[in-house]
Amino acid sequence: MIPASLLLDTSSVSEGARPLRRPTGRVESVKPGNEVLSSYGTTVFEVFSRLAAEVGAINLGQGFPDDRGPPDVLDEAARALQEDSNQYPSMMGLPALRQAVARHGQRFYGLDVDWQTEVMVTSGATEALAACLLGLIRPGDEVVLFEPLYDSYLPIVRLAGGIPRLVTLRPPDWSFNRAALTAAFSPRTKLALVNDPHNPVAKVFTADELALIAEFTLAHDTYLVCDEVYEHLVFDNRRHIPLMTLPGLRNRCLKIGSAGKTFSLTGWKVGYVTGTPALLQPVARAHQFLTFTTPPNLQSAVALGLAKDDSYYTGLAQGMQAKRDRLATGLTAAGLIPLPSAGSYFITADYRSTGFTGDDVAFCRYLTLEAGVTAIPISAFYADMPRSGHVRFCFCKTEAVLDEAVARLTRHFAHPRAIET
Ligand code: PMP
Ligand code: GLN
Repeated sequence: MIPASLLLDTSSVSEGARPLRRPTGRVESVKPGNEVLSSYGTTVFEVFSRLAAEVGAINLGQGFPDDRGPPDVLDEAARALQEDSNQYPSMMGLPALRQAVARHGQRFYGLDVDWQTEVMVTSGATEALAACLLGLIRPGDEVVLFEPLYDSYLPIVRLAGGIPRLVTLRPPDWSFNRAALTAAFSPRTKLALVNDPHNPVAKVFTADELALIAEFTLAHDTYLVCDEVYEHLVFDNRRHIPLMTLPGLRNRCLKIGSAGKTFSLTGWKVGYVTGTPALLQPVARAHQFLTFTTPPNLQSAVALGLAKDDSYYTGLAQGMQAKRDRLATGLTAAGLIPLPSAGSYFITADYRSTGFTGDDVAFCRYLTLEAGVTAIPISAFYADMPRSGHVRFCFCKTEAVLDEAVARLTRHFAHPRAIET
């Protein structure tokens, strides 16, 4: 049993709204903000990253690599900053980057993309998602989403007035079936949002699952927003299949990529959307009022990165796969039960084998404070936070960091104080 003192507040991982504090220290109440957004509090990533920093835990929570990223991409960003224009680029993005995105689509997926009318650069995939959802959804439209889901999806769908229809992925393989899609799709469905490879459960959708989604998309005459930020992080000789390449879907999909993931530069926030002009136009209407544009030097650097040769891309996936294996082995040795991870930065694990009987939020706090390792509770990726026995670890770290995290976990769970009464 876990000491009661360690079962900290498990009601929510968010901090909720805070009253404003004046410089004098006086606390003042303010009129309520937007109720959709304020109902979500602070994101789970920020909450656990702050906690990890406060107590000096190894942060395997929020997904960000700890290497420097490709040196030639960094050099190009520095060069462009010094030598090129630093004024507003075109709202659709620098031609060089749009051309590079179109060529990337051809090279990896055989997609024939017109860079002038079918590619838009955004400030990260986060902005791309917001622009797609705000640009397409009309109040009352239904939106099909797969749960667990990335944290920005539901707030933006709701902000746009959309009605979420959730399809639940079930462990251990996080699968879904025809009956689930039949229940979720309706004549009011405007679009489905599909994240493949999937965060947090590290699933890569099978060809059969993609075909099923395609069948429902066509039958219901809907669109697909395809969050493919981990497109180059698929393991064990799997191949990423963009939904956009399936028969009949070329003009129904908005495909979203992120330089943050493809070049291990998550702080840069450079994203890109590919889609047929008619579908991209309403998205551009939203983008022009969200960020309008993205720093030009970073766009130049990402253009250079997308043209890197195949060995960069295979090296990225192979390197990440080796890190996955290292952490999976370590988690098993420490007494947790890792689930398969087919792609992304993440691996989920069932912690109930350690004897911890609290929920996943309590476990993540406990692990941070007592073992010095931070993970993210899977319940944070659900609409109504069901109790869960799973947490998400991120393995995009140096070997030394992964080894130290595993050593801490192994030491911790080997000692009875971890599960004392
Ligand atoms: N979608 C998913 C599934 C993600 O994991 C992330 C994580 N960063 C994003 C979108 C946002 O990407 P970006 O940092 O490019 O905004
Ligand atoms: N995508 C990152 C993750 O899932 C977090 C991004 C963020 O902090 N908003 O860990």
